[in-house]
Amino acid sequence: MNAIPEKVIIVGSGVGGLSMAIILAGLGYDVTVLEKNRQPGGLLRSYTRDGIECATGVHYLGSLDKGQVLRKFFDYLGITDAIPVSRMGTSGVIDRYLFDSPNTHPFQFDLPAGFDTYEKNLKKDFPAEQAIIEQILASIRKTSEQLHALDYLYAADNDFSLLDQAESYGEILDQLGCSPRLRSVLAIPSSWIGVPVADCPAYYHNMALASYLSSSWRLEQSGSDMAAVLVDRLKDLGGKVITSAEVDKILVTSRVVSGVQLKTGECLTGSIVIAAIHPQVVLKMLPDGAVKPSYKNRITKIKNTHSIFTVHARIDAESHPEIPHNIFQVETDKKGNINDLRYYQFRKSEKKNTTLLSILTSGNDELWIPWKDTLTGHRGREYREVKNKYAEKLLNEAEKIFGSFKDLKLLDAYTPLTIRDWVHSPDGSAYGVLRSSSQTLGTALLNRTAVKGLYLAGQNVLAPGLIGTIMGSFSTVKLILGPDEFRKKISL
Ligand SMILES: Cc1cc2nc3c(=O)[nH]c(=O)nc-3n(C[C@H](O)[C@H](O)[C@H](O)COP(=O)(O)OP(=O)(O)OC[C@H]3O[C@@H](n4cnc5c(N)ncnc54)[C@H](O)[C@@H]3O)c2cc1C
Repeated sequence: MNAIPEKVIIVGSGVGGLSMAIILAGLGYDVTVLEKNRQPGGLLRSYTRDGIECATGVHYLGSLDKGQVLRKFFDYLGITDAIPVSRMGTSGVIDRYLFDSPNTHPFQFDLPAGFDTYEKNLKKDFPAEQAIIEQILASIRKTSEQLHALDYLYAADNDFSLLDQAESYGEILDQLGCSPRLRSVLAIPSSWIGVPVADCPAYYHNMALASYLSSSWRLEQSGSDMAAVLVDRLKDLGGKVITSAEVDKILVTSRVVSGVQLKTGECLTGSIVIAAIHPQVVLKMLPDGAVKPSYKNRITKIKNTHSIFTVHARIDAESHPEIPHNIFQVETDKKGNINDLRYYQFRKSEKKNTTLLSILTSGNDELWIPWKDTLTGHRGREYREVKNKYAEKLLNEAEKIFGSFKDLKLLDAYTPLTIRDWVHSPDGSAYGVLRSSSQTLGTALLNRTAVKGLYLAGQNVLAPGLIGTIMGSFSTVKLILGPDEFRKKISL
């Protein structure tokens, strides 16, 4: 450890900050994680309403089977056994897509587990497009191999050099002559990372799809339990998490980082500071002149993914038991691009005879504009009324698909403003930086900054989701250690 700077401060205790902290603590660094909220976990955290755990940012996970990418990450972090999961797709379906759109006529597609079954399902439903489907599957299989082999992390440089599939997936589908219906099915995986298919780099699309086709899972315990597992693991390795500690400033002298200052005025020193939060938020924490105007300009201009509105409700379990797959209700345009979607999950709840119904849809940002200058808990009655009215509309829509809900009780609904205030994501962006083809250059290498000792981590540096975010942590470790040391010290 002689040549390695010792004290590391990590800003943010989401899965990005905590995974980063565990890796570095395991390598012998003295790690402290600072979290503004009273509880650690960021978007990982679930919350309790009426005795029922409501999920925030983890609804299902991909690639946790032996030898697969997330399993390799969990094994390395030492958390696999402490996070019980159940496999999805054993009855043949992971996701059911219901297309109900005036443009493409109603139809249904089931996303199964496994690449071969997926190919078979596509060919059965789109018999005239066999050759296109084969080409599409060939590139998804290739990405899958690269993903699980972790080619990117062990490559000599630090760029996302696997991006030989940087062109937009929409353009590829156009070139292949894909029909609007097939396009609408293929458009869904890019929506999981918040990017419209027309502008989603093929690699990101394929990575998202491959990760779930490889194997899909649900947490058996809550997101808060998962956060607690990560915190315990960090503590076992000698790391610390300090909550209710909002970082206000990153301390920089002559373009070298020296620590952080909290909102309370207290300063903590560290020769490495890792901000596992959004880069636009980091920019505001830096002193004037700490970075070049060109860097500032690049970061300021980054476009972010949309936000999400979520409803949690409890219903009678006998009439509406758990559904072992997710359901997407999708509306598309004439070309097969997604205009809007609803995500439904029915899960057994902690409360006897009740099912937790969760509905996620786009944030509908304009609805919340009157409250944009307010903070969570201080928005008043009218906001609650608008929120509940919108939640009821979504529940009514759901009843049209699933039948009327017995003993329905709305537990909670949260808006883009909630996400914004909870984790400081700009405008409540759900998946952070928009990983689109049109801003590939502007969003490259986001874990690197112009300030010595200051790095970024979290969902914004590489890709969102648990896989993307933890991969981002490893990629920031690679940047700190250098590719050769990384290869020597980190065996995944
Ligand atoms: C509604 C929703 C559903 C999702 N569903 C899934 C899913 O099913 N599967 C999946 O894999 N992914 C899913 N995701 C994505 C996944 O949750 C995220 O990619 C991931 O959790 C991001 O982790 P992070 O550490 O980068 O950020 P965050 O979890 O946002 O953590 C950042 C942390 O930094 C803290 N912080 C911010 N500013 C400061 C400051 N100044 N000082 C101190 N602390 C600070 C915040 O409070 C927060 O705790 C979902 C996301 C959303 C929003």
